[in-house]
Amino acid sequence: EKYKEGMSKTRSSFSSKINDLIARYRKVDEEFFEELEEVLITADVGVNTVMDLIDELEMEVKRRNIKDTAEVKEVISEKLVEIYYGDDEEEITDLNIQEGELTVILVVGVNGVGKTTSIGKLAHQFKEQGKKVLLAAGDTFRAGAIEQLEVWGERSGVDVIKQQEGSDPAAVIFDGIQAAKSRNADILICDTAGRLQNKVNLMNELAKVKRVIEREVPGAPHEVLLVLDATTGQNALSQAKTFSESTDVTGIILTKLDGTAKGGIVLAIRHELNIPVKFVGLGEGIEDLRKFDPHAFVYGLFA
Ligand code: GDP
Repeated sequence: EKYKEGMSKTRSSFSSKINDLIARYRKVDEEFFEELEEVLITADVGVNTVMDLIDELEMEVKRRNIKDTAEVKEVISEKLVEIYYGDDEEEITDLNIQEGELTVILVVGVNGVGKTTSIGKLAHQFKEQGKKVLLAAGDTFRAGAIEQLEVWGERSGVDVIKQQEGSDPAAVIFDGIQAAKSRNADILICDTAGRLQNKVNLMNELAKVKRVIEREVPGAPHEVLLVLDATTGQNALSQAKTFSESTDVTGIILTKLDGTAKGGIVLAIRHELNIPVKFVGLGEGIEDLRKFDPHAFVYGLFA
């Protein structure tokens, strides 16, 4: 229900446009595809993704000898789901959790996208699953970031390992790992600073943090989650590009999907950068983080 509600802006904008298009055209022709292309681009699906999709649709429509626009709707959904999964198995939205061992999750993203909030929600989810969770306050750069993480730690009943503002993020993460080991924690979620202005700095800092994690916990980090704000549309896509060039991003947390009609960005990120969206943020509350469900998402667009 929350999922439906959170998607309502994207859904109503998208489905009303598609339904309008289908009603007006009836017959599948060149012009129909051109307008469809426009509808998809305004939903922020991304130009390259839309081009590929339209090509595939045209082929499929020819192959199945579809003449009626109403039938095309089903093919669009099928193709969108295909675009999401690519050649991968359906498990791409699952987190890589090490049962019975420490799982380290690194969270990256620029300021304001909802990084702290998402870490808090994620910690809450793990807690609910009965896991022992710790947070490491590695964003030592942004004023107030540590305190804000502590507020979320209190809300979700999870301890926060910290040092003072301005200290070395890698040192904080190191402390976090030692604490996680000595307390037998299941999950350590590491916050990081998100300075994009200086790409070299960002890369160096993330690399340093990653080296510490790799050295202290073999096989870690098990996930590097990039937090993106869906309301920023194509800007989110360019942030994803920059971060994925700086570090191996394993998944996306797409926040504020409740406040936007730009939900199509999910498909662009997956298709153009080959990074799966694993969670979506659908509100400001502690429960408002959902595992991303590609089928529900795509079919929801037409509901
Ligand atoms: P950070 O700077 O990246 O750590 O961002 P914050 O976690 O402080 O979030 C910035 C703002 O976005 C806050 O007002 C949050 O309540 C809000 N926010 C975060 N996630 C969501 C979401 O999924 N939906 C909505 N509507 N607001 C969100």
